[in-house]
Amino acid sequence: MQDERRALVIVAHPDDMEIGCGGTVAWWVDEGWTVDLVVVTEGGSGGPDDAEDASPEARRRISEIRKAEQREGARILGVRTVEFLDYPDGCVEPTLGLRRDLVRVLRKYRPQVLVIPSPDRSWSPAYQVGRYHPDHLAVGQAALAAVYPAAGNAWDFPELLEERLRPHQVQEIYVINAPVLNHAVDITTTLDRKLAALKAHRSQFGDRFALLERWLRQAAMERGVRHGMQYAEEFHRIRVREPFPFRR
Ligand SMILES: [Zn+2]
Repeated sequence: MQDERRALVIVAHPDDMEIGCGGTVAWWVDEGWTVDLVVVTEGGSGGPDDAEDASPEARRRISEIRKAEQREGARILGVRTVEFLDYPDGCVEPTLGLRRDLVRVLRKYRPQVLVIPSPDRSWSPAYQVGRYHPDHLAVGQAALAAVYPAAGNAWDFPELLEERLRPHQVQEIYVINAPVLNHAVDITTTLDRKLAALKAHRSQFGDRFALLERWLRQAAMERGVRHGMQYAEEFHRIRVREPFPFRR
């Protein structure tokens, strides 16, 4: 259908969507949008910090738990599909292989709006180091490279044409945790759902959830104040020009 609004969220780990854009996703769903989620890693590095067994089998167990938590979080937000690309957690690099996999999902889900992590750090203000996990930076870089030019160019990754995946150009990109934030989404009516979805990731937060909830409410309020809203999420929004007036 011509008027159908579709958004795709591409993140590195289970729970990244909820933290970065959960309120926005729930708001889009309320507005009738279809939202899909692609998680690049299998989440196998998300076990307890004091673990004595980090064997492949232990990682597989963690991964299965986190995938189930992610499916539950996505269900609470109203996300249609959750797809895992199963890259090893903690080892993501912006390779051509990852770029091809992301072009594949862009052509498959054909979103007008794409949400990705930032490929850049902000040094001002100096955020805590956890904000810029190397997997997030790598996914952001590969996703931007997938959007332009490859997803919209039949001549890039020609093997995808053989999979009947026609070129597709997204219209807007929302970048999470970008150094420059130029767009806010009012999440006043959806903040509770964002927090409920995040709570589904029990293996990650457990009894620390109350602290995280306070911190996220405070952050959403501070962002809201900057835009005349009660609670907000902020992004760097890029409008992709369409159609392109030049050859790729
Ligand atoms: Zn993450």
